[in-house]
Amino acid sequence: MEELIARLLTELGEDPGREGLVRTPARVEKSLRFLTSGYDADIDGILNGALFTVDYSEMVVVKDIDFYSLCEHHLLPFFGKCHVAYIPQNQVVGLSKIPRLVDVFARRLQIQERMTNQIAQTILEKVKPIGVAVVCEGTHLCMSMRGVERQNSCAVTSAMLGVFRENARTRMEFLELIRHRGDPQTKMSAEAGLACVNE
Ligand code: ZN
Repeated sequence: MEELIARLLTELGEDPGREGLVRTPARVEKSLRFLTSGYDADIDGILNGALFTVDYSEMVVVKDIDFYSLCEHHLLPFFGKCHVAYIPQNQVVGLSKIPRLVDVFARRLQIQERMTNQIAQTILEKVKPIGVAVVCEGTHLCMSMRGVERQNSCAVTSAMLGVFRENARTRMEFLELIRHRGDPQTKMSAEAGLACVNE
């Protein structure tokens, strides 16, 4: 990969041999390997020993989980907050595992819609709750840096499964819990997905 990065620098009109760039190919490779390490993640290994049988059937919400990902169209970052909820069916997952699952799917080349779905589907499959809800709010540098969209625009994507899809009151309870104070926009847009510009 280092050779490819050096070639890229040359194509950009740079001199890969100049002082500031000499170690750049190695740094970029290391950075990209980390930012795409989610492909190799062992989800069962992460959850191993963290699924507990309990008599609890109320909503579990973990909100404001930071995520950092790379858009697959431009290889530029998109990042923001992810909010996850589920309603258990005799089984819960350790709370610290949910941000780790978010990292597994964020550390890939992604679109926000797919990442949102993958987080929800994985929790549904592994924890077997009666419903899962995931809302992600992301700032896409491919939009803001390239001037495609207004600088402060934010894409909101959601995945509602099971009882969150079937029951509007359950869904609204979750959306109310994650709503930012003084920010009516989130509530309005939470059920409509917006796409990363596909070009
Ligand atoms: Zn993009």
